[in-house]
Amino acid sequence: MRLLIGSLLSTVLALGALAPTAEAAGKLRVVTTTTDLKALTEAVGGDLVDVDALARGNQNPHDLEVRPSLMVKVRRADLLVTNGLELDMWAEVVVQGANNARVVPGAVGRVDASQGIPVLEAPSTRVDRSMGDVHPLGNPHYTIDPGLAPVITGNILEGLARLAPESRPAFERNRQEFLAKLEAAMAGWTRTLEPFRGAKIVQYHPIFVYFFARFGLVKAGTVEDRPGIPPTPEHLVRLIADMKQERVKLLVVEPWNDVKLAERVAQDGGAQVRVLAPSVGALKQAVTYVGMIDYNVRTLAAALR
Ligand SMILES: [Zn+2]
Repeated sequence: MRLLIGSLLSTVLALGALAPTAEAAGKLRVVTTTTDLKALTEAVGGDLVDVDALARGNQNPHDLEVRPSLMVKVRRADLLVTNGLELDMWAEVVVQGANNARVVPGAVGRVDASQGIPVLEAPSTRVDRSMGDVHPLGNPHYTIDPGLAPVITGNILEGLARLAPESRPAFERNRQEFLAKLEAAMAGWTRTLEPFRGAKIVQYHPIFVYFFARFGLVKAGTVEDRPGIPPTPEHLVRLIADMKQERVKLLVVEPWNDVKLAERVAQDGGAQVRVLAPSVGALKQAVTYVGMIDYNVRTLAAALR
């Protein structure tokens, strides 16, 4: 987020002037920070919305680079849906540069999708951000738990219906249809992972915390020292010893983690490495919300077998 707002802003104003003024007829223009929120917003909004995500699925949403092109997107948005819990703090810089009063914090065109989420790993003491911990308000990776989709889509529905009250029944219908489909898939996922309840898994970054809790899997340490902080040699020695003692067989990574390091740790600790999809579009096998969850469930089940 180290940038020159002034120069970016003038670029945005110039780009904004060139942007097409003809909007898609009657559609709400929604911008989300992440691809997961884009997928869930499309599930609720259907053909009444045009949704664009600021982060691509293959970008780590913790440290997105703020660019003028993102400000141009937000400048034209009716609604901005953020993940909250400080995953996408950079969105505030984008909003500032976009100069769009409709989507500033507290405006009607603003949704924090984390409202009502039972936050895991909330720190009991104040986290010192100067230490670099990127989860100061608790774990922000709740969107990869399909069991929380009712809460998230509920928040999105309220945001859409605030701007287009006449379309509320359509949004509600879309949402119910999506949740029914998800519930059917959920039954299958639960069956698939049932034999592995209690399995201990090491993560590179604590991204699957909600997902593991949902399916009875056990988090057994992280490669990172603290969230977002590269490991010290001492931490890795301890982790490898723990993995041997606890007989951990699996270490999961995100595509943008240091996979080579993960492989060395796994080899020394007696485990294997699997790359999971941390967001919609992170892997080519995970281009829809249901597809992402499905890929992660199948990959875990195959690795734990
Ligand atoms: Zn994180």
